[in-house]
Amino acid sequence: MTMNATKDMKINLRGEELLHDPTLNKGTAFTEAEREALGIHGLLPPRVCTQGEQVRRVMENYHSKPNDMEKFVYLTALHDRNETLYFRVLMDNMEEMMPIVYTPTVGKACQSYGHIFRRARGMFISKWDRGRIRQVLRNWPAPEVGVIVVTDGERILGLGDLGANGMGIPIGKLSLYTACAGVPPTQCLPITLDVGTENTDLIEDPLYLGISQPRLRGEEYDEFIDEFVTAVQEVFPHAVLQFEDFANVNAFRLLRKYRDRVCTFNDDIQGTGAVTLAGLLSAARITGTPLHEQKVLFVGAGEAGIGIADTIVAAMMEEGLRRHEAMSRCWFLDSKGLVVRDRPGLESHKKPYAQAHEPVADLKSVIEEIRPTAIIGVSGRPQTFTREILSTMAAIRERPIVFALSNPTSKSECTATQAYRWTAGRAVFASGSPFPAVEFDNRVFVPGQGNNAYIFPGVGLGVIASRARRVTDEMFLAAARALADATSEHDLALGRVYPPLRRIREVSASIATAVARVAYARDLAGGPEPADLERHVREGMYEPVYRRYV
Ligand code: NAD
Repeated sequence: MTMNATKDMKINLRGEELLHDPTLNKGTAFTEAEREALGIHGLLPPRVCTQGEQVRRVMENYHSKPNDMEKFVYLTALHDRNETLYFRVLMDNMEEMMPIVYTPTVGKACQSYGHIFRRARGMFISKWDRGRIRQVLRNWPAPEVGVIVVTDGERILGLGDLGANGMGIPIGKLSLYTACAGVPPTQCLPITLDVGTENTDLIEDPLYLGISQPRLRGEEYDEFIDEFVTAVQEVFPHAVLQFEDFANVNAFRLLRKYRDRVCTFNDDIQGTGAVTLAGLLSAARITGTPLHEQKVLFVGAGEAGIGIADTIVAAMMEEGLRRHEAMSRCWFLDSKGLVVRDRPGLESHKKPYAQAHEPVADLKSVIEEIRPTAIIGVSGRPQTFTREILSTMAAIRERPIVFALSNPTSKSECTATQAYRWTAGRAVFASGSPFPAVEFDNRVFVPGQGNNAYIFPGVGLGVIASRARRVTDEMFLAAARALADATSEHDLALGRVYPPLRRIREVSASIATAVARVAYARDLAGGPEPADLERHVREGMYEPVYRRYV
């Protein structure tokens, strides 16, 4: 029996209040009996609609919106009005709506947050709340929080410092936790830490909703974060805390500081690592070269690049390599050229991957010298994989792996068409943003999208299901392998290194089971392992169906 099989539910709200509570509201789907018993008869048009009819109406409205931002505003309003219907629509139209509720549209929404603002969602904790963060967190109305996504707004997608406007990101991510993995919405808490902003446009914007002061830095910032993390543990002891879109300098540091002390992870680093590893494992099935024999060149050495390399190294070690052997298979090129040991002023997160090599400035020379099996673009620089670069890869490798992961589409290192065309159809290609299928040389290629949404919702669900106390690298490896295993031979035959997004709930359930299994095996879970773990995971998954109140 799933937790949603019984649709009867006792509620205390009545009348207009009920219609204004998005978690309980069913709109025109309230039955005659409910309308009578709950004092809402006459407050709705007479005809009782099915959820299917409501979906039809929503989709008609949605498609009539003239642009993506209007679609975002429309879906946000639906979320605020009728949560069940919102998730029904989102789950049934995942491929179409993911670019609206998440990147790229959510980025634009964040940029204009103060202007399109209708109604608050989630929690804002500001630098003015120092000394009383615990009390502020206690204002959150839902007692059982399973996942918190928190940002300080300093590096929102590729858009930089958006201050308190970054709130769209935790909200969007948590919508995906529910839509992709069935994490119940009542267990999701989006938080924005408003520590100020350096964005002068925002500071000068009279409609900006955050604190128009410079950011907290140094010790003051660290103390603020520490108070926050400690308060979260006290108030929501079973929640996993996901750090999101913090600046590089803080993201790596905070992850190192807290990962062994609290149940936390950073999706930009670890989630990206796992989803890319899964793509490489699938690509290895196509090329016939096992992961531990791959040589990977990263173009870009930020949170994504380093996170991916760390995950690949851990996976290669699982396959038998020693750490230094695995690390010697990961090379980095950043804006200053090849990342080598003798380079002065190298940032600390790049140092472990600095190779003993002469400096080399340009990508083509690096490829010719290193002869990678795979190039992974995580630089945010569009069109870095030019015709020359891709044909060089095709010249040195029979099936070159080309992952152009920079988002949004306009930042991608190359398009899918370019990747296939300029390698004579031999590239194993994946991208960060979606590309349509490509017809080339009488064949159809379906590019895979290395979307983090394949990983983090399933990881969160697995942590909740096992009540895990920590999120470990081993869990991310298990998640990546579960995702790769969910990629079928049919997917691979089309050139797709990930399963289609429409199968995401099923895939997330497998990922969550794999993650929970690690928690039980490593004694990190909050109780004994259920006899049928997969069933236990699936039973906890939310379904957007209306409950009967009467
Ligand atoms: P970041 O700002 O932390 O890192 C960017 C890196 O690129 C820096 O090391 C910088 O030195 C380097 N760089 C800049 N210009 C370069 C150039 N011309 N040549 C080589 N390197 C250059 O950003 P990040 O979080 O690491 O994200 C990078 C990109 O990856 C973004 O576009 C992001 O959208 C994308 N990303 C994709 C996924 C995914 O597909 N699942 C996940 C996370 C990030």
